[in-house]
Amino acid sequence: MMSGGQGGGPSSGTASANMHRANEISVFGEAMDYFNEAAANLALDPNIKRILTHPSRQVIISIPFQRDNGELEVYTGYRVQYSFARGPAKGGIRYHPDVTLDEVTALAFWMTWKCAVVDLPFGGGKGGVTCDPAKLSRSELERLTRRYAADIIEVIGPDKDVPAPDVGTNPQVMAWIMDTVSMHNRAHTPGVVTGKPLNVGGSRGRVEATGRGVMIVVEAALAKMGKALAGRRVVVQGFGNVGSISAKLLRERGAVIVGISDQYGGLYDPRGIDVDAAIAHVNNPRNVRHSLEGFAGERLTNAELLELPCDILIPAAIENQLTEANASKIKAHLIAEGANGPTTPAADGMFSQAGVTVIPDILANAGGVTVSYFEWAQDRMGYYWREPEVNARLEQVMRENFDAVWELAQERKVTLRTAAYMLAIRRVVDSLMTRGIYA
Ligand code: NAD
Repeated sequence: MMSGGQGGGPSSGTASANMHRANEISVFGEAMDYFNEAAANLALDPNIKRILTHPSRQVIISIPFQRDNGELEVYTGYRVQYSFARGPAKGGIRYHPDVTLDEVTALAFWMTWKCAVVDLPFGGGKGGVTCDPAKLSRSELERLTRRYAADIIEVIGPDKDVPAPDVGTNPQVMAWIMDTVSMHNRAHTPGVVTGKPLNVGGSRGRVEATGRGVMIVVEAALAKMGKALAGRRVVVQGFGNVGSISAKLLRERGAVIVGISDQYGGLYDPRGIDVDAAIAHVNNPRNVRHSLEGFAGERLTNAELLELPCDILIPAAIENQLTEANASKIKAHLIAEGANGPTTPAADGMFSQAGVTVIPDILANAGGVTVSYFEWAQDRMGYYWREPEVNARLEQVMRENFDAVWELAQERKVTLRTAAYMLAIRRVVDSLMTRGIYA
């Protein structure tokens, strides 16, 4: 089934039209908060606003697949292509039991602004399958992935929509999607997905890209404030891909990492944590839960970790960690959102009042999608860059767009978040107006 702007999508203009279950708050509706504030600052034309508050296309599919025991099950999958104004849609695929059309639409909406704020030639998209990947065998995961890919094959492709990994999916899942599409097309099509393993067209530097981008914007923000990174105390929540790499790279540049955590709790050492040793501890095959438990430092909860004395706080775990309840207790003067949506709008307002600078998620964690863009470009050229080239180009993209957001925030006396949305919306609107509205 397909619905969307051209065929039966929400026409009332209400974001909650996409809600999956009755009486639930719409994630897509909530995602509008920051957009609306920026749109008001831009005095956005109501006709354009109507277009930008509707997803271009929403695809819902039923995915029959065979369990290892022979039983057939039918799962629901989605692909939402929020905007094509600046290029093919771009965004991850999530495998999680809570995936709904409403959530996938909100994530595709965010991807639209994330791609635009770092000036990538992409629109925004996202996909998902409502399933629990932890309960599937490897062969079940492969069959589910291939059937999902085959069912959305008309709408994805290097010139249409380029998926990537998200929660519950990984480079192997991307390799299966690439292979399925290549088999159906009878043509090698590596540019259909990014986040692939290196040996099937992945990009060097992709694994570190999001953490590297966080490090770059932190350094850039401090430079604007006339401060150096060396000696600054940093707390990082979440020690997965984004958190551990951010901590490692910031430490390499002289910052002192005083707190780190994972889902099982945190560690505090005011003298500085040896991040490389902590990464080795987590990756040790004997550490079955791959947790920080047993590593040197004072143990504390994630709630306590966020309130530690420090200069810079990097939430890099999950959403809604900085709320009305703890915002006034945060000691950091600079927050860089490695995670998506770690700050609630209420907490964001409190930080703005208190003079705490927040580098918003759509900018701070855009390093990943930027190197995904490099992967797509390399796949299309069939020519692959060395890692220093990838890192240098990433640094250029992050710095240029950080500067543009910073300057807009100063000029319009708004927060970095509002400025980031304003810049992104302005870029999408400019592309839309240049193309013209085919109405
Ligand atoms: P990950 O799975 O590699 O790591 C997540 C970390 O958070 C783990 O250490 C986990 O133990 C910890 N965690 C989970 N629940 C927690 C909780 N309740 N309290 C404290 N810690 C908890 O994930 P990741 O790829 O590092 O992604 C982290 C965040 O960054 C997510 O919000 C993700 O959407 C966002 N993000 C990731 C990328 C990327 O390229 N990986 C890009 C953009 C945004």
